[in-house]
Amino acid sequence: MSDDKEILLELLREILDDEKQHYESKGQIAFDCPICDEDRHKGNLEVNYIHHVYKCWSCGDVNNTKGPLGKLFDQFGNKKQKKVYTLLQPEEFKPRKKKFKN
Ligand SMILES: [Zn+2]
Repeated sequence: MSDDKEILLELLREILDDEKQHYESKGQIAFDCPICDEDRHKGNLEVNYIHHVYKCWSCGDVNNTKGPLGKLFDQFGNKKQKKVYTLLQPEEFKPRKKKFKN
């Protein structure tokens, strides 16, 4: 288990509370959605920390609670959490730079 993954999971727990499900083999972890859960503890918001994406299966389309993981930090995290995430974020998942070589 890599340190980066542990730090990322801790960040997610800070923002979304303890997970409801965790499928380590798939890199998938489910939390209560901060927008639509309303204390029902359904764990509808799923994060995939291998692909660095998230989606709420209940309100993802309506409330736009889906997309690249960086967006989750913009939506629900604070500046410090977002900064830590940016440091952890693998290069290939960072927003594309406009500069192309050749
Ligand atoms: Zn939701």
